[in-house]
Parts: sequence; structure tokens; C-alpha cells
Amino acid sequence: MNRSESDRLYEEAQRYIPGGVNSPVRAFKSVGTQPLFIERGQGCTVWDVDGNAYTDYVGSWGPLILGHAHPAVLEAVRAAAERGTSFGAPTRGEVELAKLLCEAVPSIEEVRLVSSGTEAVMSALRLARAATGRAKLVKFEGGYHGHVDALLASAGSGVATLGIPGTPGVPESVVADTLVLPYNDPEAVRDAFATHSDSIAAVIIEPVAGNMGVVPPQPGFLEGLREITYQHGSLLIFDEVITGFRLGWGGAQAKFGVMPDLTTLGKIIGGGFPVGAFGGRRDLMERMAPAGPVYQAGTLSGNPVAVAAGRAALEALREAGTYEHLETLGARMEEGLRRAATDAGVTVTLNRVGSMMTGFFTEGPVTDFASASRSDTAKYAAFFRAMLERGVYLAPSQYEAAFVGLAHSEDEVDRTTEAAAECLKSLR
Ligand SMILES: *Cc1c(COP(=O)(O)O)cnc(C)c1O
Repeated sequence: MNRSESDRLYEEAQRYIPGGVNSPVRAFKSVGTQPLFIERGQGCTVWDVDGNAYTDYVGSWGPLILGHAHPAVLEAVRAAAERGTSFGAPTRGEVELAKLLCEAVPSIEEVRLVSSGTEAVMSALRLARAATGRAKLVKFEGGYHGHVDALLASAGSGVATLGIPGTPGVPESVVADTLVLPYNDPEAVRDAFATHSDSIAAVIIEPVAGNMGVVPPQPGFLEGLREITYQHGSLLIFDEVITGFRLGWGGAQAKFGVMPDLTTLGKIIGGGFPVGAFGGRRDLMERMAPAGPVYQAGTLSGNPVAVAAGRAALEALREAGTYEHLETLGARMEEGLRRAATDAGVTVTLNRVGSMMTGFFTEGPVTDFASASRSDTAKYAAFFRAMLERGVYLAPSQYEAAFVGLAHSEDEVDRTTEAAAECLKSLR
């Protein structure tokens, strides 16, 4: 496959952009090849600047559940843009999107729109700390919540110990109040609360982890978090930036029947545009300025073009049968990949919840970051490159999800699992 124009652009990009990309994983570093520069997308297909076509299971890292260039989204964007692209004043569209989010997500009574998932998380944490008058935060190893300083605590810092800076530029003092615990370990949570009982402002979790690869919560884990946070007057924050509107119309909280105090959203709710949101109980949200004293603002928050895209995407997802169909597609992909791995005699642990899944090259089970880390990432890299050669674009990292969406047909999924069978055989 000729990728000379992508390679040329990458070289040029590196002169002007650090590492040649505007978000690190895009550089394909961990899969040992060069990034694709994308020319266009349509449905479940993307074309690179050399004219190669790929079936896309990245979907802009989650937002494009409807596929690329969905007509309803394009129409909404065109109509909104023609009326002007930004006012920094309230518009009808943002009320409609906010109302839709409040109606869809069971625990959200009020919501504030922002421009990214990172911003949503950052603001939700500020609110949680303000509402509780406490400083400490609990996050889980391998959980990603955007590049919020306080949550860039090292994923390797062990059970119930203080986080250490995961990146230069985050002072020790900023992560000193961040406790990093293993995912799916209720014992560690109990210990943390026993030690820090009335100083924990909030526990933040991806209710289905997507950023260490897909790791589902074990039965009772989320319920346990709900109970212990409630007992100790701490807030429970579900980071549903991936799972919101992917695992169901009401997100993971509706699927598992566990209601957080605050929820963060992003990705899908922007329909491919920069939109994030945080929302929850009215008494908490009413603390946000100007209703209350907790300051948070944004020049482009609730941007009319972005909210029009988000609303159009959500309206399309609301149609009957969406989530049943995604489950069917996801199950078909899982089944095909399982068969492919068995036939090839390659050990793969497949974790899937609905339309998000990850194959780990390890015995399994994969239940937390430690077990995810046992995956043979060199094997994943080889698999990724082999699939790319066959025109399948997977996430360029072991620690991400593959997403199926409404633009993938069953035939497309079957072609992908057939390609996977060949690629896995070549890995033996
Ligand atoms: C992507 C992601 C974020 C950050 O969202 P951005 O829009 O990239 O800032 C936060 N939380 C989770 C769970 C995510 O997957």
C-alpha cells in the first residue's frame, strides 16, 4: 500500500507541530508505523491522502457512531452555519440539546455545555470539590478522563497510595490529593475510605472502562461505589464521555441501573464537533455560576454549529432499534474475532460491551489495568499493521476500544473478521 503522501505530510507536520500531531496517539508510535493523513470519510470508510480506503473502527475515537458525513448531521451543520457560527450569547439550539440530555440521561437534571470531555471533567471536579468542601479525588488505574492535571496521576502508583505526577508540568501538589485505585477492586475502595473517610470529594470512574482497552465493571462494583460514596458524603462521578449514548440512550448508568451524582459527556453528543457536557443533580448544578458561586465559562460553549451537529446525531440515535442493532453488530464482530483467534491458535482475550470492544493478546481475564498490561503489545502492533494493510483501520494502540457503529453493515463486519483471521494466522 502506497502511503507516500501521508509520509510526506508527516515529515512536514513535524516541522510545525510537536511530533507532527495535535493529539499524541495519532502519531501511531506504539504500533511502529507512520500516521495516516485522512482526506475524507463516508459512512464507515475513510480515505487517506494517497487514496487508500479503510474500514474505520476508530470513528474519531468514539464520536462517529453514525459514521462519517451523516446526511442529517451535515444538513443541521449547514443550516446552523448559515445563520452565523458563534454569538457568545444564548441560542435556541443549546436549550434543545440541554433538554435532550436531561431527558435522556436518568441522573441529569441540569447540564452545562462545554467544548471537550477534558473541560467537562475538569469542571465537574471543581463542582464536586466546591459542593463537598473536600479536596481528595479517587480515580482508577488505567482510567482516562482527559488531560486534566489532577487526574494525570501515575497509573502505576499502586493501591490506595498518593498519586505521583504522570507527566512533567504537573506539580506534585496538584496530584497530592488524587488517590489511584485498581479498577474492579472494592476492597481497595473500602480501604481508601477507611483511611480518608471525610476528605474524599468524589470518586470518578468510567463505568465501562474504555481507555485501558475495554474493561467492564464486575457485577456489584458500581453499586458498591454508589453505596460507599453515599455513606461518606462523597460524590460519585460517571465519566460517560465514551459510554454516553453508546451503551444505550441513557448511557452506562441506565444500562447498569446505578445513578451517579454527576455525569460527564462528550464525543457522541457533539456529532463530530467539539462538545462536552457535565450535569447531574439540580442542587449540585445550581452551584454553578451564575446561579451559584462556582465559576466556569467558555467563549465557544454551546456553540450553535456544534450543538446543531450534536442534536442531529442524538435525534438519529433516538430512532427505534439503534441499540439492539449495535448489540447485534458488536456480537457478530466478537464472534467472528473469537473464531478467527481460535482457528489461528492465537490467545486473545476479547472484552466487549455493546458496540465497544478490545482484543488483548493475553490469557485473561482482563479486569483491570494490571491484567490489561499483560497483553503482548508487540503482537497487537503487528496485528494493527497487518489489518491496516488489508484496509482495516483499528485504534493505533492496545489500550483503546474498537467501535462498531450504525454505518457498519454485517457484510463489512464479516469482511473485517475474515481479514482478522488471515492476520492472526500470520502472527503465529
Ligand atoms: C476522550 C475522553 C475524555 C476527554 O475528552 P476530550 O474531548 O478528548 O477532551 C474524557 N473521558 C473519557 C472517558 C474519554 O474517553
